[in-house]
Amino acid sequence: MRYFAFIDRDIVLRSDGTELTEEDLEKVGEACGRTEDFVEEATGIRCIGLKDAGLLPEGYKRHPLRFYFAAQTEQVIQQASRAKALLGWRQQTQFCPRCGARLSDHESLTARVCPECQNLIFPRIEPCVIMLIHRDDKILLARNVNNKNGMYACLAGFMEAGETAEQAVCREVFEETHLRIRNLRYFGSQSWPFPAQLMIAFTAEYESGDLQLQSEEIADAAWFDPLHLPEVTPPPGSIAHRLIEAAVRKAELKNNK
Ligand SMILES: [Zn+2]
Repeated sequence: MRYFAFIDRDIVLRSDGTELTEEDLEKVGEACGRTEDFVEEATGIRCIGLKDAGLLPEGYKRHPLRFYFAAQTEQVIQQASRAKALLGWRQQTQFCPRCGARLSDHESLTARVCPECQNLIFPRIEPCVIMLIHRDDKILLARNVNNKNGMYACLAGFMEAGETAEQAVCREVFEETHLRIRNLRYFGSQSWPFPAQLMIAFTAEYESGDLQLQSEEIADAAWFDPLHLPEVTPPPGSIAHRLIEAAVRKAELKNNK
């Protein structure tokens, strides 16, 4: 069993950066108050949501979960992602969307059930696409208007109802930059529980068009040489980082030939 406590988008760790024990979980739960407290035997997780971060006792700290992923094994990442995703789902899923009655936990499934109309509600995942566009030896990186620290990252966006992932990639790229792309290749995926995304990553090649930015979303976008990246790019632990790292490695190999 692994023990998780979260405050907003942060995981709570011991001050030395190690994970919580069962006793730690009780201690921080007592001190801060809990929004949720649940166990999932099948995946070996117990998780609590903390109410008041200001009351975190000495010996513990909060740490952004997305940075925590960077140094963990695949198993820990999966458990932490699931714990965080289920916590968010539980907090958001209190009442039946069909009849409005208060939901209960299902006896055996990871689901909530309506005692009035028997509606069964499973955790939802929201698929997003993220893509790195290549043009000759350069890659397209963009700075989002909401990003405060000047980070240049891959284009990304939520999938729309009725779309394939490939259609979503082409639409997002066109909406945000007015470029047409080709040769989409699946790259990988990552659970991103902020609150419930699944990031589906692609690479693609530039086909046509001039950069014309969607000003409500994109503050700046430009073609970068992977060996001369902007100062701030996505930190390790994200699939955006993996996409950019793969382009950097490819450029290094080419450079060494
Ligand atoms: Zn109902």
